[in-house]
Amino acid sequence: MEKKRVRRALIHAIAQCQDCDWGEEGYKVAQKKARGHAIKTGHTVDVETGYWHQYNPK
Ligand SMILES: [Zn+2]
Repeated sequence: MEKKRVRRALIHAIAQCQDCDWGEEGYKVAQKKARGHAIKTGHTVDVETGYWHQYNPK
């Protein structure tokens, strides 16, 4: 089997509440804060995320 090296990092995340004006653009905290906002308020929160991947077989 071929040896593979994969690196992955979160580089982008934006949260936006559907039920109020709340939003979070800090990618490191957006997912966690979105979950917290949804649980605390009962609102529906969308989170858009982007991941960087690198496949380096060397
Ligand atoms: Zn909200």
